[in-house]
Amino acid sequence: MAEQKDPKMSKKDLEYFESLLLEKRREIVAAQVGSSSSGAFHTQKHQMDMVGYSNHLTADAASDYTSLETSFDLAAREGKYLIYLEEALQRIKQETFGVCKVCKKLIPKARLEAVPTATKCVNCKEETKRKEREDHRIEMARAFAEQHRMQQK
Ligand SMILES: [Zn+2]
Repeated sequence: MAEQKDPKMSKKDLEYFESLLLEKRREIVAAQVGSSSSGAFHTQKHQMDMVGYSNHLTADAASDYTSLETSFDLAAREGKYLIYLEEALQRIKQETFGVCKVCKKLIPKARLEAVPTATKCVNCKEETKRKEREDHRIEMARAFAEQHRMQQK
């Protein structure tokens, strides 16, 4: 068997990354608790955001809205990363963890150690980024041309 059709990580590696992911998750949860204790007022708001965003939309603390929004953004970012971690843990269970979802090759372990939530190898990620940049450039050129034409009038 010179060629593996369906590459996957060894059990040992999967276990290793599972503990790494669980460790990361613990860190985030600990960081959330840590930031809460720094300010009692902020804590309540922050926890409210965590429980349900709709809560403070109906609350009439409108003047406080901007700061609330900032802490929500932060919570959302942390929450999103937690979701990525959960998804990665899910992939470990399905034994698809560490396999690039584009080219189906194994992602180098060094990369996974740096970014355990990665779903693409560096090559495929770069390729995606390059395409996105190109799209963005075309979009910008179009917008610029549009603006230029309006100024000519
Ligand atoms: Zn790939």
